[in-house]
Amino acid sequence: MKGNFPIDKFQQIRTPFYYYDTDLLRETLRAINNEASKHEGFVVHYAIKANANRKVLNVICQAGLGADCVSGGEIERSIEAGFPSQKIVYAGVGKSDWEINLGLDCNIFCFNVESIPELEVINELAEKKGKIAQVAFRINPNVGAHTHANITTGLAENKFGIAMQDMEEVIEKASKMKNIKFVGLHFHIGSQILDMTDFIALCNRINDLQNQLELHHIKVENINVGGGLGIDYNHPNRKPIPDFKDYFDTYAQHLNLRPGQKLHFELGRAVVGQMGSLITKTLYVKQGTAKQFAIVDAGMTDLIRPALYQAYHKIENISSEEPCETYDVVGPICESSDVFAKAIDINKCHRGDFIAIRSAGAYGEIMASQYNCRKLPTGYITEDFK
Ligand SMILES: *Cc1c(COP(=O)(O)O)cnc(C)c1O
Repeated sequence: MKGNFPIDKFQQIRTPFYYYDTDLLRETLRAINNEASKHEGFVVHYAIKANANRKVLNVICQAGLGADCVSGGEIERSIEAGFPSQKIVYAGVGKSDWEINLGLDCNIFCFNVESIPELEVINELAEKKGKIAQVAFRINPNVGAHTHANITTGLAENKFGIAMQDMEEVIEKASKMKNIKFVGLHFHIGSQILDMTDFIALCNRINDLQNQLELHHIKVENINVGGGLGIDYNHPNRKPIPDFKDYFDTYAQHLNLRPGQKLHFELGRAVVGQMGSLITKTLYVKQGTAKQFAIVDAGMTDLIRPALYQAYHKIENISSEEPCETYDVVGPICESSDVFAKAIDINKCHRGDFIAIRSAGAYGEIMASQYNCRKLPTGYITEDFK
């Protein structure tokens, strides 16, 4: 089964481009709101870094989600898109002064702080402005996620967060700072996680930490468990909306929330991954000595995940119904790693055929580069073709 695309409307547009199915996006957002609202105190943020296309952000913002930012640029972009600053959280190991000042000026909900030196700088900058910065501490829970090594973030060896054994000292320090208000704990163990036992491990760890803090009479208003829920890259059409029921139920069942406590989520990939496809045109079909290449006009500059993480994306020839043949689908960039897939079977390719590279809504357009002086790809939404 292939995806549904308004191919006749694609003819006039310069390829490659991203196509975002906003009907699917809205359905996905409805599922998120529907499942999260079944649990008291659950608050969902969208991780802007997955896809910061303005049209996409508008749809997500209208659904009422908050924004999870990892840079000053993302704070600017999310405010521009209409996210209320009181729903913005800001994480990152290396926040620069202008970014912290921007967060303070915008009165964002919370800085997710990753070190004591950072906490000191936020306190100092907040004092200059006569403001109180709300902070949560990002704790490294030393919980592994069964995902690609480059996208696991919650192990002691990773650069992210504050070590568990330093947690109390840091909270103590914060409580003595005049321009800091401690409001919560933050975690994020990695990305593309499909095994709920990874999230259960995080819940268990948080339960232990909370018990420990209660012994010291430290109250935590907000727990933020980050994002990381994965999508089915192998079958983008089979169940395009991730199992949010299972995801939120897992946290409801395993995390012991205290009365009045809020539980925050920061979902990126699971919100936007399946609604996006990279649409590219076949330039040439080339017979190599041992293989057959479909050379397309999109490259690793448009979608870097296959080159960077050896990520799999389903590829469909959406212009042809002829019997399948085996191709290496490659881009035009002068790098051997500029390969979308090797030895895949797709409908027979001809010059000019549209190829859809599926499940590319997350970490696609936003990671595009201009290497080889390439134009950045444009993102179109369903409404653009009506
Ligand atoms: C990347 C990131 C997320 C989103 O991750 P997904 O796997 O796309 O859900 C959430 N929180 C933080 C802190 C992140 O760095």
